[in-house]
Amino acid sequence: MQVFKFGGASVKNAAAVRNVAEIIKKHHSNELVIIISAMGKMTNAFEKLIKSYIEKSDDFNENLFYIRRFHLVMVEELFISTDPIYIELESLFLQISKFFSENKNVNYDYIYDQVVGYGEMLSTKIVSGYLNRSEVENTWLDARHLIQTDFQYRSANVDWTETCQNIQNAVSKPTLYITQGFIGSATNDTYTTLGREGSDYSAAIFSYCLNAESMTIWKDVPGVLNADPRYFENTSLLERISYREALEMAFYGATVIHPKTIKPLENKNIALHVKSFVDPDAKGTVITKGVAIFPENVCYTLKENQILLSITTKDFSFMIEHNISHLFKFFAENRIKVNLIQNSAISFSVCIEDMYSQFNNLKSVLAEHYNLEYYENVKLTSIRHYTAEIIKQYEHSNDVVLIQETNEVAQIITK
Ligand code: ADP
Ligand code: ASP
Ligand code: MG
Repeated sequence: MQVFKFGGASVKNAAAVRNVAEIIKKHHSNELVIIISAMGKMTNAFEKLIKSYIEKSDDFNENLFYIRRFHLVMVEELFISTDPIYIELESLFLQISKFFSENKNVNYDYIYDQVVGYGEMLSTKIVSGYLNRSEVENTWLDARHLIQTDFQYRSANVDWTETCQNIQNAVSKPTLYITQGFIGSATNDTYTTLGREGSDYSAAIFSYCLNAESMTIWKDVPGVLNADPRYFENTSLLERISYREALEMAFYGATVIHPKTIKPLENKNIALHVKSFVDPDAKGTVITKGVAIFPENVCYTLKENQILLSITTKDFSFMIEHNISHLFKFFAENRIKVNLIQNSAISFSVCIEDMYSQFNNLKSVLAEHYNLEYYENVKLTSIRHYTAEIIKQYEHSNDVVLIQETNEVAQIITK
């Protein structure tokens, strides 16, 4: 069994869908499961729609129209005008409208998870239909009925036993399967999502449950590079890296792989290939257990929109275990991600990421006990396999707020 995953960029327009179909045709097999994300920037478009619903803004209809139009234009380019795909998409749009008109729940995260995954539902219907019409027979699966989760909306936790049972039962005959990334459900009709960019993780869940031989994620880059080409010049391809290397890079901002993807693959020793959908015959990157990074390169990752928060005790008492555990309780309760820690006798500094807009809450609870100082909008650069010369260059920059070095990685916070 093999698992492929195609992300939003790979299906952003009709030409891209045709390209994906070509890649699938080439690897056509009855032991292949394909996970697909929402098309192009459709998840962002759904987020905008949900926001306008919650704010009861006048843009709501326009936002819905935009999403509808995007998919209809795509379908008009890929199918004949009498194709049943039009009815299938209409039925999905009806479900979306029905939810909005009947919903009474005011919880933003709940509403978000009931709607945002329709981007994936629409894209997989289109790709599956297009493949079927192009003589690549396939079975479409609703991942919401397979990935069983808890109720933690927007970053749900997977129930592995249930999920594996569901997936093994669903993927039981020799055929090509197409399904969605990103989505699951807590009960039959309470949908959840695995977090933004979570489709890589979905593919890893399928790979794990099916004991796949390998998993391939198809990207708009040649593979895992030593740095994100959007932010760094002269990047180069890493041909082989270990799960550990990939996990560290992903955790600190190499968005080419969702950080949760690695563990399920590592547990079952499933090789992860990162390949280019633009140049599908090129080698790409292979990620396996324990291999030394090749070629040996310095690797850079960057995280923007970080907050450097410095916390000091009010009464000059030491910042010791008791206070620190107290702080982490607040971080966890507010779903704050901590990317760097530095402490001294009476102060504790953290570089944090506020993914769920909880920083104001956090500040008000912490301010009851501690003095706070913070810089918003700082950047965190992590440099793996760094050299002393590289750090020297940073030391001379006025923008640097903090440098922390360990054996393997240097972390630098800049304004
Ligand atoms: P998907 O279409 O599957 O969602 P993404 O856009 O999330 O794919 O991931 C691909 C992008 O990841 C690239 O366009 C690149 O800008 C970014 N990226 C970040 N770090 C790296 C890295 N180390 N190597 C390659 N790409 C990277
Ligand atoms: N469509 C979702 C997102 O944009 C999931 C994914 O693409 O991985 O976050
Ligand atoms: Mg993505």
